[in-house]
Amino acid sequence: MAKAIKQIAIYGKGGIGKSTTTSNLSAALSELGLKVMQFGCDPKSDSTNTLRGGKYIPTVLDTLREKTVVKAHEVIFPGFNGIYCVEAGGPAPGVGCAGRGIITAVELFKHQKIFEELELDVVIYDVLGDVVCGGFAVPIREGIAEHVFTVSSSDFMSIYASNNLFKGISKYSNSGGALLGGVIANSMGTPYSREIIDDFVAKTHTQVMEYIPRSITVTQSELQGKTTIEAAPLSLQAGIYRSLAAKIVEHSVSKTPTPMEVTELREWAGRWGDYLLEVEQGKVTSQGAAI
Ligand code: ADP
Ligand code: MG
Repeated sequence: MAKAIKQIAIYGKGGIGKSTTTSNLSAALSELGLKVMQFGCDPKSDSTNTLRGGKYIPTVLDTLREKTVVKAHEVIFPGFNGIYCVEAGGPAPGVGCAGRGIITAVELFKHQKIFEELELDVVIYDVLGDVVCGGFAVPIREGIAEHVFTVSSSDFMSIYASNNLFKGISKYSNSGGALLGGVIANSMGTPYSREIIDDFVAKTHTQVMEYIPRSITVTQSELQGKTTIEAAPLSLQAGIYRSLAAKIVEHSVSKTPTPMEVTELREWAGRWGDYLLEVEQGKVTSQGAAI
């Protein structure tokens, strides 16, 4: 019998740290001896950069534009510790659906039974999640990924994007779509960032998988074209990525989240805004109360 492949998708607002987190997660999973594929589904096509010394790889869509028949192996490149790197790619600027690359790449791999051939343990899709439409919804809608995680900071726009993702997940949850594993809280460190994320997950009935601090080690590693796991394996930050990896390996039950309506979300954010203002003005001193 073929072994079970764990397929997960990481969503989140652009620039929030999806690729950084995903690459460190892949690297940490590979250290555990797992066979990992990281599948970049952002038209930016830079998901796997730090797994490959900062080098870009040809995308599935670019390769398909050059020739009509593409073998899966032509678009799979080796990265750190044997991780299989793939970039779906994007359409020519201003033309076509940005999610096309995901659909095409997934179909190509399915047809050529590539996951089975490589005997993968984990496939991680790194997906731009501002808009859960068209191709970007594919890993969720088709249930290709079993578990979805969202990377979010405590900034409103990031939480807004996560809440939209939750709406997408809820919509497809009764028709075999992927379910939500939880939130990966990134760039923690500013005052109240934890409290805000904790309150958001409580309101939407999900959980925080890991709190990842904003860290100069991540910046340094990225400048060297590497993940933190590779560049600073003994750092505190690398330990946090390993802790996230261990939790994701253990994770088995995902759920349908309860997204907030947009007015409710706005009011919730407004209450936090008022509260933070009062803190700044010294009117309240108690820490950590959810509102
Ligand atoms: P996304 O894939 O969501 O568009 P990236 O992973 O490319 O975002 O991250 C955007 C920028 O933020 C990168 O320069 C990355 O190094 C930085 N970054 C992400 N997470 C952290 C962190 N925890 N600490 C410091 N810098 C971070
Ligand atoms: Mg990215």
